[in-house]
Amino acid sequence: MPDLGGPLAPGATIGMMGGGQLGRMAAVAAARLGYRVHVFTPERDAPASQVSAATTLAEWSDHAALARFAAAVDVVTFEFENVPGDALDLLAGLVPVAPSPAVLRTSQDRIAEKTFLAEAGVATGPWAPVATREAAEGAVAAVGFPCVLKTTRLGYDGKGQATLREAGDLAPALARLAGADGAFRPLVAEAFVDFACEVSVIVARDRAGAIALYDTVENRHRNHILDLTIAPARVAPAIAAAAEDAARRVALAIGLVGLLCVEFFVTRDGRVLANEIAPRPHNSGHWTIEACAVSQFEQQVRAVADLPLGDPARHADALMKNLIGDEIAALPALFATPGLVPHHYGKAEARPGRKMGHVTRLFPRDSLPAEAEIAAAFQPAL
Ligand code: AMP
Repeated sequence: MPDLGGPLAPGATIGMMGGGQLGRMAAVAAARLGYRVHVFTPERDAPASQVSAATTLAEWSDHAALARFAAAVDVVTFEFENVPGDALDLLAGLVPVAPSPAVLRTSQDRIAEKTFLAEAGVATGPWAPVATREAAEGAVAAVGFPCVLKTTRLGYDGKGQATLREAGDLAPALARLAGADGAFRPLVAEAFVDFACEVSVIVARDRAGAIALYDTVENRHRNHILDLTIAPARVAPAIAAAAEDAARRVALAIGLVGLLCVEFFVTRDGRVLANEIAPRPHNSGHWTIEACAVSQFEQQVRAVADLPLGDPARHADALMKNLIGDEIAALPALFATPGLVPHHYGKAEARPGRKMGHVTRLFPRDSLPAEAEIAAAFQPAL
């Protein structure tokens, strides 16, 4: 892979694979540091394109467009996990790419991811690979009931998942998780974790090997989609420390240059089990825009541009609520409510389950609302 040869000069161009809201917020952070962003996306009028200097509108498999894109940028990063590994490999032969294609590939395949986590000494729940339809019964029996069957690739926000309560649930689950043509797709069987809460940690690592960790936060999902992040997580210090230690291990073992998020389950008996790695800014890190001196997006830009990492210290507590689908209609009321910081991603159509924006509310450190008051934090708008 070509070398960056030192910090990216102001005015240089960062290539962004993917045009979603993560790319949009990274492009805003890049602009503040004096860089331009050039987006590569198959989507017309993508959220990131609306705030970037240039867009290559092309399919991921368009090699000529990828080569033109590489020639137009100084470094490449990504905001979308399902960028095909081959596209990133092609770019990496032409221009520095961070995180590396190998990091992307590990996160794209749940079996590669869990195997990597085991090798890195990071605990996960019990799991078994399901390489063939015939292997499913044995794998499910090995992890026990209840369990979750997941496609190894291209799953997100609960898509490509089925929960099994008993042996009779297996056949319908296999039918549901099959490809559009009915063909079997590789799966992983995971024991269902009866978690006390879910937490995540965002870690950045620069080209010199320095690491910056954000505080452990607590995440609540609704319909398998992140609904609320509570920063910091209301867990025992030892639990937050275990999650942060695991995130640091992941960054080191994977040879990260850039930024990644590790999501965890915290079990009722206090174990911290990794669920997923996402090697890009993460929805559970949006609170860092307002509550930290340097946000996750700026940190990604700094790492990729070979600048020193910034201070990830949290100067406030925060609640971040996603605006999913029709919830975006609350925007005028959110703007009218003092203390709320709304974000709109520039998407024209509010489809059900679509992340349209988010809203953050800050609190002085150590004064998050009590559990019963959390729901009221965004009222009267939500
Ligand atoms: P994932 O796509 O793996 O991030 O899963 C999305 C969400 O589904 C998680 O954040 C959990 O809320 C839930 N979930 C996934 N896997 C499990 C599991 N093995 N046990 C319990 N809940 C799970």
